[in-house]
Amino acid sequence: MGKSLRTLKGVGEKTEKLLIKAGIYDTEGLLRYYPRNYDIYEKPESIAELKEGTVQAVSAAVCSGVYVNPVRNLQVISVTVGDSTGRLAAVWFNAPYLKSTLKKGSFFVLRGKVVKKQGKLQMEHPEIFTPAAYEEILHSMQPVYRLTAGLSNKMVTKLVRQVLEDRSLQSEYLPDEIREKYRLADINYALNTIHFPQNMEELLKARRRLVFDEFLLFILSVQLLKEKTEEAENSFPMKKTWTTEQIIERLPYRLTNAQLNTWHEIERDLSGQALMSRLVQGDVGSGKTIIAFLAMILAWENGYQSALMVPTEVLARQHYEAFRKLAGEQELSVKCVLLTGSSTAREKKIIYEQIRTGEVSVIIGTHALIQEAVEYKSLGLVITDEQHRFGVKQREALTTRGAPPNVLVMSATPIPRTLAIILYGDLDISVIDELPARRLPIKNCVVDISYRPKAYSFIERQIKEGRQAYVICPMVEESEGLDAENVMDYTKKLKGILPGEITVSALHGKMKPKEKNHIMEEFAGGGIQVLVSTTVVEVGVNVPNATVMMVENAERFGLAQLHQLRGRVGRGEYQSYCIFVQGNNEETTSKRLEILNRSNDGFFIAGEDLKLRGPGDLFGIRQSGLMEFRIGDIYNDAGILKEASEAAGEILALDPDLSLAQHESLRKFLEAGQTAALENLGL
Ligand code: ADP
Ligand code: MG
Repeated sequence: MGKSLRTLKGVGEKTEKLLIKAGIYDTEGLLRYYPRNYDIYEKPESIAELKEGTVQAVSAAVCSGVYVNPVRNLQVISVTVGDSTGRLAAVWFNAPYLKSTLKKGSFFVLRGKVVKKQGKLQMEHPEIFTPAAYEEILHSMQPVYRLTAGLSNKMVTKLVRQVLEDRSLQSEYLPDEIREKYRLADINYALNTIHFPQNMEELLKARRRLVFDEFLLFILSVQLLKEKTEEAENSFPMKKTWTTEQIIERLPYRLTNAQLNTWHEIERDLSGQALMSRLVQGDVGSGKTIIAFLAMILAWENGYQSALMVPTEVLARQHYEAFRKLAGEQELSVKCVLLTGSSTAREKKIIYEQIRTGEVSVIIGTHALIQEAVEYKSLGLVITDEQHRFGVKQREALTTRGAPPNVLVMSATPIPRTLAIILYGDLDISVIDELPARRLPIKNCVVDISYRPKAYSFIERQIKEGRQAYVICPMVEESEGLDAENVMDYTKKLKGILPGEITVSALHGKMKPKEKNHIMEEFAGGGIQVLVSTTVVEVGVNVPNATVMMVENAERFGLAQLHQLRGRVGRGEYQSYCIFVQGNNEETTSKRLEILNRSNDGFFIAGEDLKLRGPGDLFGIRQSGLMEFRIGDIYNDAGILKEASEAAGEILALDPDLSLAQHESLRKFLEAGQTAALENLGL
């Protein structure tokens, strides 16, 4: 198992915090923090041969003094370098320490992105090497890690190296037959090589092993879990009731057939002998919330409590309001509470008491639901919505209190049935593969930034008709050298452009929860007309009156994520529109975004995205929002997934509970939870 990060040289309190923020909790976590890409250090190019838009190296002499210019809140340092073919400007942001390094006449290898500014090529924020240092890493593949602010690639690389050098070797946990049959590399080789490969061939070998492991462990965990839950008896048997039928009849809309089927499957499970453990998958907007509510009402009618857990406070509050509205309309006497991190200590005390005595039946909230002090009287059903944001541990905390409750997991992962069956085996899944019929399909367009004035007047017209709009920016505020729109400046700008009577507000993850809730409520109530936001609204938010989704720097998001964002509109009776603004003019980006233009179907988009990327593109943009494996990609690595599923079948056929000696290390490895496997399922 991993050791504390503080045992590493160079890691103090501050660095530890940064690492934790990146999701790395111990040395094992660092080891499994696989690079997202690799840099290949090519031979330096002559200045005359540099190409715009690429990362290249030049070997050149400093031939000017160092200039320091303040630009907005940045300090820009620039210098001119030259070789026998020409001269080139190099610029750095906020790096005052370079002043003493860049002495006129000294020789360096500079490596960085070549961009065009005012018609001239320049190199942005290049790395600086002495010629000798560059010679040493020439042609090698250097890992590029996913970073959070304050964490540099150099730092992570150094720490990973340290862990690899210091650790005792991992014992091989795959049985030899499996490794031979599926031509899998040794685990220690794989772990070393994935961080520091010598060449592409080695890298692919290492990657194959790690992807295989990830899928295999996931499938084994699911199967073992299935076995466990099948044995578990349902301590909360429920009887079907008329109330739910009545609600369905009185809803202002008719449930789709897919919704009805899913509901009946859940109803059947809950009234059965065995404990329910069901996964509901449905594309954004397919109407999963009402299904959750029906299940909670069924539990209430049978005298049990139920809890609905969601990843964000905004979403929790929204579900809470929606449930209360439904209960009011249907004249149900069910009592419901909202429990989140921003409930005050006094409120919490009262709520805990109400939960303990059974005074409230429906509990909706965030992680706060699983805090130590929450003691349920008779928790018969647990639902997690948008589950992929939860960890196994958190789910366990909720389910291990008292007799295990029935479990329903709802997610918007667009995953085709065939893949779902490989991954989940015979786990119970319901798929809502149908959108409500009355919906008008969303109209999409992909445009460049010159289209903005038109977009703004379009938004203005929609608002005059009573509708609302979202504008999404990738960043919260202006950041070093990154050329992307940010919420703070954009909000200011938009306030200036749109007529004064239109209310424009900002929303982002760095705000206090209270503030976020307040703004989201105002938006939901129509008090705010244009919401300029980061992707905090990506998950689950439901404001049917919003009809425009404008995404700035669309190229910075994965297609799955853009599809989720688009899912925020088209939720009501009005025609909705999606405007994807492409901030660069690269052709590959336009092609990718075009896919969104062609279809509103999440399954289709995932498939097309794969085709476009081709199976060779292993390190392209990950399908954020889809099954979040650390390294495997269910679409790209579908072949390995099939093999892993076959291997899991072979292992379990021989040894259903992994009790044989040859599976001991595998079982231990699984139990140690070193795989994030089940996080994907929330099971
Ligand atoms: P998601 O599956 O993304 O969670 P929601 O449950 O939030 O979707 O539903 C989106 C919107 O569609 C809500 O406003 C909901 O009231 C509405 N809705 C749900 N089911 C239907 C239906 N069968 N017909 C029409 N509208 C529906
Ligand atoms: Mg939802």
